[in-house]
Amino acid sequence: MTAQITIHTEGLTKHYGDVRALVDLDLDVYAGEVLGFLGPNGAGKTTAIRTLLDEIRPTAGRAEILGMDTHESAVEIRRHIGYVPGDLALYPNLTGRDTLTYFANLRGGVDWSHVDELTRRLDADLSKKVGDLSSGNRQKVGVIQAFMNRPDVLVMDEPSAGLDPLVQREFQAMMREVAAEGRTVFLSSHTLSEVQRVADRVGIIRHGRLVAVESVADLRSKAMRRIELEFDSPVEASVFGAVPGVREITVEDHRAVLTYDGKMDVLLKTVADRYDLVDITTREADLEEIFLTYYRDEVNA
Ligand code: ATP
Repeated sequence: MTAQITIHTEGLTKHYGDVRALVDLDLDVYAGEVLGFLGPNGAGKTTAIRTLLDEIRPTAGRAEILGMDTHESAVEIRRHIGYVPGDLALYPNLTGRDTLTYFANLRGGVDWSHVDELTRRLDADLSKKVGDLSSGNRQKVGVIQAFMNRPDVLVMDEPSAGLDPLVQREFQAMMREVAAEGRTVFLSSHTLSEVQRVADRVGIIRHGRLVAVESVADLRSKAMRRIELEFDSPVEASVFGAVPGVREITVEDHRAVLTYDGKMDVLLKTVADRYDLVDITTREADLEEIFLTYYRDEVNA
């Protein structure tokens, strides 16, 4: 069974005068996944989200959420999504609880036991006026607001900003649970470690253009690794050089050190066929390196 597409964009484009903030975005996001939308400051993440949510009109292209046109059905769509905007604006004089009551009323009621659970998990304080909270604690109110109606689609623009590491972990678990329930999370982030931990797929955006969309697992398997192999007898460099994906080889008697961006399985089968492997150490690929590789490629291109 193929998963249902919950977010769909076609040639979505936004120019601000000469600034091409978003260029020709074609993207499908599926029910049951967390999509990490990753890019540096100014890459176009916020523009993409605001265009997608009909807060700003695209220069060209269109989008659908849950099969509905994001412009024509904007009001209906709002009932099915949770949204944490990048520039969260809340009434400073309302307490957290009053703020959530306000949003709950807009949406025709809410299950307060669920709100209480979210509050506990994020260690939020709903008794204080929102204006008196630190930015991280205010952010928690925004996150609860987005999660509280168990929306089919969650769209969040840098939602972890200001959350301390323990709360971030809990928040990541909450996102995984949403996906496990068959709902969708669209998570904009510039934090690689977060995306690496929480996302199924990652879309990398740079200068308004989507430069890659891949599963985190595929990205990892493609990444350059440094591998040290130790054998029970002296080895020849040519055996390693024949494996596609081996970049650099240093052979010293019983030991070989490689830089490799192919599949581990292929490498191991090839060498184990020739020699008896005694030990192997490999440094796990870091998404950061992959991310930089993409950006370097772009620059070179
Ligand atoms: P950040 O992580 O810093 O929020 P971002 O990836 O969300 O970055 P955007 O805010 O979408 O990036 O900005 C994309 C580009 O569009 C930037 O060059 C920005 O300066 C420009 N831009 C955004 N909003 C406007 C606007 N209202 N008028 C003119 N230019 C804008």
